[in-house]
Amino acid sequence: MGGHSCLDAEKMNIEAYDDLGARCRMLGHAVPFSYCRQVADGLPCRLVLDCWHEKFAVAQFIQEHYTAEQIEVFMSPGKAKVASLVDLIEQAKRRAGQGSP
Ligand code: SF4
Repeated sequence: MGGHSCLDAEKMNIEAYDDLGARCRMLGHAVPFSYCRQVADGLPCRLVLDCWHEKFAVAQFIQEHYTAEQIEVFMSPGKAKVASLVDLIEQAKRRAGQGSP
């Protein structure tokens, strides 16, 4: 007991959540995450945080698999969203990194 719990979330496979589903507000029916993460010319949907943050650590996922430039591209219709992403990432980091000195 004590010790570190295994943080395999730190190395998430990009396909790890592909089979999860959410109801898409744009299409009006359920879609798998594999769709959402590639829908914008191979980049995620700009609503990916809104739709998925309750289902898994999507902000952390985005941070690990995409560069800041890519994030800005797919979030660009609403630049303010980048700030909320950074916020979510910070929260996720704090939660994930509680054990680190
Ligand atoms: S992230 Fe985009 S494509 Fe995926 S469910 Fe939400 S609105 Fe639809």
